[in-house]
Amino acid sequence: MYRLDQRDREVFGLPADICYVLSFERAERHLLDIRIEVATRGEPFLEFVLPSWTPGSYKVREFITDFTLEGVLDEQGRPLEVEWRAKNRFRIRCDGTQKVYLKAVYFGNERSVRTTHVDRWQAFIMPSNCLPYVEGRLWEPHHVVLEYDPARWRRVTTPLAPVDYGFPPRLGALTYDILADSPIQLGNHRVYPFTLGQRLHEVAILADEPVDEQWIVRATEHIVRMTWAFWDGELPYDRYVFFFHIAPDILGGLEHARSSVIGVEPAALRELSGVHRFLRLICHEFFHTWNGKRIRPEGLGPFDYSQEHYTPLLWLVEGITSYYEMLLPYWCGFFTQQELLVHLGLEVQQLSHVPGRFYLSVRDSSFLAWVKLYGRSPDGPNRFPSYYLKGGLIAWLADAWILQQTQGKRRLQHGLQELWRWAQNHPERGISEEEVLEALEAGTGVQLRGVLMEWLTERGELPYEEVLPALGLQLRWNTATLEERLLGERFVFGRIPASRFTGLTLREEPGGLIVERVEEFSPAARAGIAVGDELVALNGIRLRTRAQWEALLGMSDGELELTAASNGRLYTTTITPEPSRQVRLELQAEEGTPQARLCRAWLERPLPEFVPADALDTLPVSLWSPWELEPRLPLL
Ligand SMILES: [Zn+2]
Repeated sequence: MYRLDQRDREVFGLPADICYVLSFERAERHLLDIRIEVATRGEPFLEFVLPSWTPGSYKVREFITDFTLEGVLDEQGRPLEVEWRAKNRFRIRCDGTQKVYLKAVYFGNERSVRTTHVDRWQAFIMPSNCLPYVEGRLWEPHHVVLEYDPARWRRVTTPLAPVDYGFPPRLGALTYDILADSPIQLGNHRVYPFTLGQRLHEVAILADEPVDEQWIVRATEHIVRMTWAFWDGELPYDRYVFFFHIAPDILGGLEHARSSVIGVEPAALRELSGVHRFLRLICHEFFHTWNGKRIRPEGLGPFDYSQEHYTPLLWLVEGITSYYEMLLPYWCGFFTQQELLVHLGLEVQQLSHVPGRFYLSVRDSSFLAWVKLYGRSPDGPNRFPSYYLKGGLIAWLADAWILQQTQGKRRLQHGLQELWRWAQNHPERGISEEEVLEALEAGTGVQLRGVLMEWLTERGELPYEEVLPALGLQLRWNTATLEERLLGERFVFGRIPASRFTGLTLREEPGGLIVERVEEFSPAARAGIAVGDELVALNGIRLRTRAQWEALLGMSDGELELTAASNGRLYTTTITPEPSRQVRLELQAEEGTPQARLCRAWLERPLPEFVPADALDTLPVSLWSPWELEPRLPLL
């Protein structure tokens, strides 16, 4: 039977007929050596398939590109015949042998949260990238043996379960799906364990530069506690691993059933907005332990690893998770109330610069995730809205709507808890859209389907002004104006130019300013400026840096003459920048009014009885912690 979950004790001592032996003699050249031993059980043929995508990251990535099959032998060491049947699928003629032995090598040199990367310092293995499964035998136990030099690498961390305590380590998974979902980290990373709810949590930190690791562990522990309180009931695992990769050029996260991988640049941990992003990311990935891994759309478990599986439900998996990645840090005490409003306001502003919201609904954006979201075309935001961004704002409106309809007695959280009950009763299959709507309505007692489906299928603006005022929330759009700066107390020394909107995103290169993005319907789009063009001069002044471009725009009015280059030839155009619009989310509710009551219900922390209340109110604060704990929720 399909399963994505296992307990360590279920695997200890369990034999397996499929075993992968991984060795690292050539790790410094990014090569992972793989031996696969499979009992044939008398079958004339065995067919092996390497996945084309990794669950959680909806794009066909063709891992087979970096996988090379070097040979196949029988028990006597004689070569067996291999026939390729498709790009990622090959068949072995067993010729009566009891066991087949495959030898392969994987080139792992993409450093990201979803890819295998092996080097002289460490090995991070994503089994879905590099370990092919045996067709028809996904749902039987699989072993992984790690042959490495313990003098070089001291530690192995993985959600896979130990099969025994010998050396080399032998790890096990009840199914291939569990194996594919379980990263393995080898190296000299640090591991910090903590126990909550009688469950073991391991925080594994692989950092290129020194960071305050104790602080990361305490923040993580707090997030586990608050998310657990949110979902109610027991923590749905026996052990959970947080992998932190703290390295330049890495940002992102990937969720698994018993682990998550979080990548962050060391520089981000040295400034407030970076720390906010980091905390949001931890909350996001851990929230998926429930929403995404166990509550999951049809088709996303059991998986078809060979090809796309389309779903309109990523608004549930990613949109709703994106909303709670803002509320959870607030409930943890990491964000002040004001900072929460700033985060929500910035999401609204960000969506206002996504003209794609007029072309594609969130529901369709989810369906086309495979070719749109991860494609990262510079023209992408002009053509489709992200189901993360717009889906998160829809979740916020749905929460507000439910609060309003129930006079603050119910909120979106109750609908999600009902979905979680549904998932616990149906661990073997994913949920349909109809079942999601039913569960949300049952959990909240609100007829939600009409408005929710309208927001999910419409192409255009969301009805913030109709929904948010019930909670005392107002979005205020302002245009940036010239700002006067004082020298001493009275003497005006200068005026800071107002920021102007052109719709251009620019990149500085040694040769000049290159256009990275042009927003549809913007002044730049009207001026005919294209992605890849180089901006040369504005009103006859040679352009060199982004800062200079911004300053020149701020000091000018009306139509400007722009010289640019397209494919090596100069052209001239005129551009008329507009005042830059900024949105602020404001809370305006008099104490004692219905709006204030609803707002209080909205912001109220989940506080079930089984989580000791004092545990929620003591946030450990490290030396450089940029926040202060906000113990209760004062309105106004
Ligand atoms: Zn996510």
